[in-house]
Amino acid sequence: MTPTKLYCDFFGHNYQLSKKVTNHVKEYTCKCCKKQLTTDSNGKLIELTPKYQDINSELERIYSSRLMRLKQKTLSSSIY
Ligand SMILES: [Zn+2]
Repeated sequence: MTPTKLYCDFFGHNYQLSKKVTNHVKEYTCKCCKKQLTTDSNGKLIELTPKYQDINSELERIYSSRLMRLKQKTLSSSIY
């Protein structure tokens, strides 16, 4: 067990937003011990396991492609 982990256990983790996956799903990393959390589909904070990393990267892919389509739609509609 490292001193930073001890610190976290004692004072609580120091989570900072590390990645915005979608508008509702975000990933957080502890500044001290690098433990990662993510928001699940219910908006609850849970540990970022490899399974959720997969889910999040898939979500991100869908989300960004949808954003792209939205942008293209806005672009083409602004021409007319
Ligand atoms: Zn921590």
